[in-house]
Order: sequence, then structure tokens, then C-alpha cells
Amino acid sequence: MKIIVIGAGMIGASLTWELTEAGFTVTLLDASEAGKGTSANSFAWINSHGKPPEAYHRLNASGMQAHRDLAKRFGQAPWLNLTGCLEWQAPAEQQAMKDNVARLQSYDYPAEWISAGQLQQHEPEMHLDGTQGAIGWFSSEGWVDTQQYIHLLLQASAAEGAKIVTGSKVMEILQDGDTVTGVKTADGTLHRASLTINASGRWSDKPPYLGQQATQLAPTTGILIRVPAEYVPVNHVLATPMFHCRPDGEGVTLLCPNEGVYDIDESTPQSRIDELAADIILKAAEVWPRLAAIRPEQYKARMGIRALPVDGYPIVGPTPGLAGYYTVVTHSGVTLSPLLARLVTQEIKGKPAAELEPYRPQRLRKG
Ligand SMILES: Cc1cc2nc3c(=O)[nH]c(=O)nc-3n(C[C@H](O)[C@H](O)[C@H](O)COP(=O)(O)OP(=O)(O)OC[C@H]3O[C@@H](n4cnc5c(N)ncnc54)[C@H](O)[C@@H]3O)c2cc1C
Repeated sequence: MKIIVIGAGMIGASLTWELTEAGFTVTLLDASEAGKGTSANSFAWINSHGKPPEAYHRLNASGMQAHRDLAKRFGQAPWLNLTGCLEWQAPAEQQAMKDNVARLQSYDYPAEWISAGQLQQHEPEMHLDGTQGAIGWFSSEGWVDTQQYIHLLLQASAAEGAKIVTGSKVMEILQDGDTVTGVKTADGTLHRASLTINASGRWSDKPPYLGQQATQLAPTTGILIRVPAEYVPVNHVLATPMFHCRPDGEGVTLLCPNEGVYDIDESTPQSRIDELAADIILKAAEVWPRLAAIRPEQYKARMGIRALPVDGYPIVGPTPGLAGYYTVVTHSGVTLSPLLARLVTQEIKGKPAAELEPYRPQRLRKG
């Protein structure tokens, strides 16, 4: 069976690998380079830390387990960094954090309290002022180097026969009556397939997706600041009152202001992003004093745009009344991608996945 996957981000790369492993003939098409969409501008924390309700929490916890399983199946997983996560909150948020930890413990999710002294052992360079209250430790969490993940999965897929075509924008979804039969790319090539999968992330609600082919998104934005690790020497994922932060590979630390701290959207110019980055650097210097000496040319700030469905939950499944077409679009796609790829492959092989029932595309089309 021939399958076209549109989009070579975390989701498309995971699908390509899993479907190829299962024996399908896969063509992956991307308008740009592989991995350069939202997956390149993500905090990429694998977690199920604050993802209500319980069914969605469990989906993400299974996503974390799927990362571990994939690492074993793949034989090596240099992209997977299971560092654990430390969290503390401003006084006004400390009760909410206590409630969250209690809820996570009731789900048997690894979540415990540690002392400020223990935190200091984990992160010796950090400066705390004593107002952080209780500190949460989430040992099963970590982060993914999305570029390594995508590159290595696509390399392995190509070695098994998948066709990976980058710089090839899909301009039209081809339909014969109520059946999708393939796509047309910008160079005029017609690619025919029994199944076409929309894994285009934040572009999945725009042309070439028309009518019931399109998703319903309400994207939000975030700022990612990459600084030399010598200024912010961290060993774990840290969730702090103003920002999240984690190591980002050799010699680099990633800082990400928390959602809602700054009011930005897709139209915010880079000059404004740079101003806001300078502000967060100033605030982060209270915790990492060495940052006070950093110069603007030593760090880089970028905007990331979330592929956020209107109700916040994944959109996964076929579209009723439209044969040969399937959608896989979600936020938290770094955490979820190996699991979704496995469940979607199972569905395409003929066995519906009960875990995906709450996330079918038609729920957003009601009314
Ligand atoms: C600031 C921020 C922080 C985040 N933090 C986390 C986190 O901590 N943990 C987590 O799990 N998730 C996080 N996410 C979400 C996560 O990054 C995304 O869910 C995930 O990267 C989406 O992957 P994707 O493959 O769906 O999309 P993308 O990586 O955007 O890939 C889609 C691809 O489709 C291609 N494409 C689009 N249109 C076409 C077309 N017409 N023809 C051909 N190709 C096309 C694009 O070129 C692109 O390469 C975060 C996101 C942001 C923005």
C-alpha cells in the first residue's frame, strides 16, 4: 500500500519511520528542509506534567514511554535526554503546584518533593533567594533534540526504502469524488497513493487543505532564547516562575519564557522579540548571576508557533465521508510523536486504537 505523508517535522518523521517499518511504501514530502518547522522552535520537553484531563495525561505519559521503547527498538537514541525536571513556583502559584503534584502522584506518575539543598546539589550554579517554596522533582521527564531525532529517523527510513522529498510543496490534494487519490506538488508532479496523511502542523488549516481536509487551529506563540551554557550551566529541565530552561546540546542552554508572560503573536517583529529576550535575560540573571555579563550578540531569540488545535487536544484520524485521507496534528507533538506514529500505523493496518477516540477530527466540526 502506498502512503504519502505531508510534513517532515516530529510527527511526519515518526510516521514515516513507523509506517516504513510496518512494510508500507512511504513518500514523505516537505515544502522546506526536514525538521525546520515548529519542531525546530520548540522547548521539546517530554512530559505529562500538567496535561488534564486524566485521559490526556495518560496519553502523554504513554508518549513518554513510547520514547523509551523507540530508543530500545532503534538501538541508539542520541536525541533522548532523560534528565528529569525540577519545578518551583512563585508564592501565588504554590498551592496550585501542590495540587498538581498530588494529582500526578495519584496517577502513579513520578513526582516528589525535594529540599532547596537537594536542588542546589542538582544545579550547583543556581542562585536561590528562599522564596521558591517547595520544589518538585519529576524524574521520568527530559527533552528531545528534535533535529537529531528527525534526521536519524529519516535516514533509517530512507535506508528501508522510504522516499524523502524536501523542497517540494504540496499545492493540491487530489480527489476523485469522495476519495483522496494523492497530491500535486509545486513542480507539477502528481504523486498517487491509497492514503494521504496531513502531518503539516501549523500549516494544516491552510491551502492546499480545503473544506473537510483542513484542521481547526488556534495557534499561540512562544520565545526560545539560545545562550552559551557557560552563562546558564544547567543539567535538567527547569520549570521556574518566569521561564523554562534546559540544556540544548553541546555548549548551549535554551530559555523559554512561560506562556502568558509576554503578549506576542505571529505578526510581532524580530526587533520586539529581541527586546523581550533582553528582558527575560535580565530576570534570569537573578537566578544565574553570570548572565548579567552577557552581550546581545552572544544569544539568539526566535519565535515558535504552536500547532494548537482550537480545543487544545490532538486531531488524529480519518475524516468521515472522505476516503484515503488521515490527519495527525497536535500540540505537545514532541512528547506524543512516537506514540501517535505507532497508534496510527496500527489503525492503518486495520486495528482501531481506543486511545485515539477522544481526538477524532469530526469533534471539531460539530455544528
Ligand atoms: C514555543 C513552543 C514550545 C513547545 N514546547 C513543547 C514541549 O515542551 N513539549 C512538546 O511535546 N511539545 C512542545 N511544543 C509543540 C511541538 O513542538 C509541536 O507539537 C511539534 O513540533 C509539531 O511537529 P509537527 O511535525 O506537527 O510540525 P512541524 O515541525 O511544524 O512540521 C510540519 C512540516 O510540514 C511542512 N509543510 C507545511 N505545509 C506543507 C505543504 N503544503 N507541503 C509540504 N510540506 C508542508 C513544513 O515545512 C514543516 O516542515 C512546543 C511548541 C512551541 C512553538
